[in-house]
Amino acid sequence: MTEAVAGPITLRELQDIPVERLKGVGDKKQAALKEVGVSSVLDLLTTYPRRFVDRTDEARISDLVPGQEALVLVTVRSVTKRTMRNRRTMVEAKVGDGSGSMHVVFFNQPWRERQLREGLQVALFGKAELFRGGQQMTNPIVDLIGDRTGKIVPIYPQSEKAQLSTWEIAGWVENALERCALRGFEDPVPFEVRRELGLIDRGRAMRQIHMPQTMGEKEQARRRLAFDELLRVQMVLVMRKRAFEREQRGIRHDMSGDLVRRFHAALPYPLTGAQSRAIAEIESDLAGPHPMHRLLQGDVGAGKTVVAVSALLCAVQGGHQGALMAPTEVLAEQHAAGIRQLLDGLRVPADNLFGERQLNVALLTNRVTGQERRDVMAGLADGTVDIAIGTHALIQEGVAFHSLGVVVVDEQHRFGVEQRAALRTKGSNDAVPDVLVMTATPIPRTAAMTVYGDLDVSVLDEMPPGRTPIVTHWANGPLMELAAWGDVRTAVAAGQQAYVVCPLIDESEKLEVASAQETFERLVHQDLKGLRIGLLHGRLPSADKEQVMGAFRRRELDVLVATTVIEVGVDVPNATVMVILDADRFGIAQLHQLRGRVGRGQAASLCWLVTAQLEGTSPRVEALVGSTDGFELAEIDLELRGEGTLMNTMQKGRSDLRIASLRRDRELVALARSVAFGIVDADPMLVRNQPLLDELGLLLSAQDEEFLFKS
Ligand code: ADP
Ligand code: MG
Repeated sequence: MTEAVAGPITLRELQDIPVERLKGVGDKKQAALKEVGVSSVLDLLTTYPRRFVDRTDEARISDLVPGQEALVLVTVRSVTKRTMRNRRTMVEAKVGDGSGSMHVVFFNQPWRERQLREGLQVALFGKAELFRGGQQMTNPIVDLIGDRTGKIVPIYPQSEKAQLSTWEIAGWVENALERCALRGFEDPVPFEVRRELGLIDRGRAMRQIHMPQTMGEKEQARRRLAFDELLRVQMVLVMRKRAFEREQRGIRHDMSGDLVRRFHAALPYPLTGAQSRAIAEIESDLAGPHPMHRLLQGDVGAGKTVVAVSALLCAVQGGHQGALMAPTEVLAEQHAAGIRQLLDGLRVPADNLFGERQLNVALLTNRVTGQERRDVMAGLADGTVDIAIGTHALIQEGVAFHSLGVVVVDEQHRFGVEQRAALRTKGSNDAVPDVLVMTATPIPRTAAMTVYGDLDVSVLDEMPPGRTPIVTHWANGPLMELAAWGDVRTAVAAGQQAYVVCPLIDESEKLEVASAQETFERLVHQDLKGLRIGLLHGRLPSADKEQVMGAFRRRELDVLVATTVIEVGVDVPNATVMVILDADRFGIAQLHQLRGRVGRGQAASLCWLVTAQLEGTSPRVEALVGSTDGFELAEIDLELRGEGTLMNTMQKGRSDLRIASLRRDRELVALARSVAFGIVDADPMLVRNQPLLDELGLLLSAQDEEFLFKS
């Protein structure tokens, strides 16, 4: 071995050492480890304990409080197995510690009989209950401690199936750490940064996460290792952001015209402070040399449309074109209708004898065909179309723009790096158009930094004035549902209107339409008999859809029964009541979006969330009842669903978060981001920090890697 001359050990070296090189890992264990995703020493060392038992402060049986969850460290005294009348098995164990004894029962886990041998030390985590005068736990989580010593015992994720126990893993980890001790761990975080943030070095963190002497040591280690994970993610995002800025030539938009100013002056209301701020941020990006990559976040009803249209008009004003891309054709059509209305009467200078002409807004979706389509395409190519509205088809091959200056993307999910690349070809003279991504899904700040960390962010955190908060009720079961219909009638009697949202059926649009039809019939003939009711769903031809929406807007209908097609873009301030059926089938964000369709006028608004009679509570429904603040709801959503879901749905390949949590580590996310900026701005290609560059390549997804090594 060359250990004496080699420098500190790197993560890549650890990745290159197969786990079977460790003492005690034979063929059988190697296969078992592989099954849980551990093949290298690095995999093993980053298999962090999922819990720690503090022997100095352990809960004893005598301290258990019935009804409360607790952890106890006990010895197994006896085990019996029985088969009950319904053929289910019950394994019963008697366990004890110095303070007393208790019963533990397991239903339908016959293998527990073999697992829990007499004399074995186990940690049990579960809810204590009183049974026949004694303490008992039913189906607790069991961790075998084996003969591990030490005050703090780490408990590793173990696999019954793979036959791996926590003490075996602990033993191998210890062996690996011992063998690393001589060289120590390479630490890519500069010393000054560590000192400033109070972070321990990596080697110490590795030891302390696996073999802490105190819970405080474990916390220190966790913070350091979480920081590493977050820093890697931020490094990639920040490097990508800076690379865009470096490599892409943008359009310096000419801001001297008065089109945007005239647009604002013609609005029937003043801009909110938040709108003005966002518009100023966008204008400063547009005037600058780099292409804009900005995210506009704002709750439903915060007034994003005006901001987006302002950005598009900046392009038009400077002699370029603007495009708005919606995720679906229906939404594109709705946007087109809304924006045409908003821009009605706005005139632009024309290069002909007439001096001025009406601004030309064109819709381009797959439903625009034949001569109409040819006309739109020609207008895009010769520049007579000022603003194009459509789906992603707009930026695909074959669509030529005269000079595309600004692109607004509504809803971020489907606009990734590849789409941005497609934009390169759409500007003039190879300049890349500016991009504004608009989302109505509030994302907690730190999550946004992680998921959209390569974008700049503007937030509309202020609602237009004069909104009355929406009061939300939960109708739990058919009896309470009657109250909802009562409120609909009251609102209609007062000259107002209502929405009824039909149950969401994920699996099939056809079923969803059928159920909407059914709901419609029921309301017409029973609950809302006598009112003027319209039906809107995704399978209607667009002319019919437009006709129904128009009738509702003109108040020729009292109630609009709809599937979730109304989720975005419908704006009828006279609608004050919303009834959402089977509300517990929707996610928090979606309910919040739907609810945002009311509460848009001066009158007080109501939302009823109807569910079948539920026994317990419905956390999502209760969240909606408790709050109308989209950002607060987003935090709750993150809490309920876990960040895994968020990361999965929003971005592929952010799988590196093993110990960091976007919920717990908010402060660290922001710190990691600012450290990443510091590092990248001083050393854009990381030539002076090879270890860090190497780790980014090693641990981030293929997609990120490709980016790193391409530049
Ligand atoms: P979002 O797209 O953010 O959900 P919209 O742009 O559809 O919101 O605007 C919601 C409603 O608020 C619209 O009726 C719009 O006319 C109105 N609105 C927008 N900005 C203002 C403002 N500054 N003052 C008053 N009303 C506004
Ligand atoms: Mg909108």
